[in-house]
Amino acid sequence: MNISLLIPCKVKDVVWLSSTVFKVVFDPKTKFKYQAGQFVSVAIPTHRERPLHEWHSYTLACPYETAETNGYEIYVRYISGGMASEYLSFLRKGDEFTITSPHGDFRFVPPSTDKDVVFIATTSGIASIKAIVESEEFQKNKPARTYLLLGTRNEEESLFTSYFEKLGLRVIPAVTKPKILTFGFWGRVTDFLERGVFPWNAKNADYYVVGNPKMVKRVLYQLNLLQKVDRKSIFIENIISQFSFEKESTEAEVHELVPFKKSA
Ligand SMILES: Cc1cc2nc3c(=O)[nH]c(=O)nc-3n(C[C@H](O)[C@H](O)[C@H](O)COP(=O)(O)OP(=O)(O)OC[C@H]3O[C@@H](n4cnc5c(N)ncnc54)[C@H](O)[C@@H]3O)c2cc1C
Repeated sequence: MNISLLIPCKVKDVVWLSSTVFKVVFDPKTKFKYQAGQFVSVAIPTHRERPLHEWHSYTLACPYETAETNGYEIYVRYISGGMASEYLSFLRKGDEFTITSPHGDFRFVPPSTDKDVVFIATTSGIASIKAIVESEEFQKNKPARTYLLLGTRNEEESLFTSYFEKLGLRVIPAVTKPKILTFGFWGRVTDFLERGVFPWNAKNADYYVVGNPKMVKRVLYQLNLLQKVDRKSIFIENIISQFSFEKESTEAEVHELVPFKKSA
């Protein structure tokens, strides 16, 4: 990955949205434009001499139109013992950190005809769907029917269900460890697709799939090979579970990085 620009940022707020997901709202020193669906990489200090930082990617969770005025946002799934998510969960208002300029080509492509649009995501992948659905691009080209197949562990992680419903999406929560057995579909998103029965028009739909590589690979197989959906109608984003790329920072880059600075 090419680090074209390092951007110092200041934390505006850290808000827990559920017991496993929190958002970090921040202002970059230099405002930058991006497309809904893109991600930034955050410099996570390693407390080792080399490499000083690991770069972990996080999708920008709101579109540029709102980030510009309300602050930029990332949604982080907390993983106990996970270096990046632990570090980010300790940030407080006024703290500073460094990100790269935005990357990625996962974005909404308005469908040409009356196609359905189907988002398929798991908890950590929800940020890109949120940014896309809130974006002017999506709102101006709103598909007649939009579905969200949202995979989470339990009902609490499905906190976005009602939010997306208010935005007009038909949400199907797929919950692996439900506390209430009647809530949504009991199983993984891939279990839901495995049945081969869909509320949307399977062959006349565009699909946006965000999740870990195993999930994305399985969904691709189910849609493309089993359901014969045209590969060009399936847009994918892999959220790998390890840090996104390893790189020894050059002396110049280290100099540019904002040191981990706690506010008073
Ligand atoms: C393009 C891209 C976009 C991404 N966007 C986001 C985002 O918006 N929000 C987000 O939270 N993460 C996102 N990620 C993942 C993120 O970069 C980190 O990998 C993740 O936060 C884990 O880092 P960690 O150091 O906390 O845990 P690690 O030390 O890397 O992992 C600890 C353990 O948790 C497991 N694990 C790692 N990631 C996950 C996960 N997401 N869910 C469940 N278990 C996991 C690992 O298998 C490992 O066993 C994205 C990754 C990519 C490549």
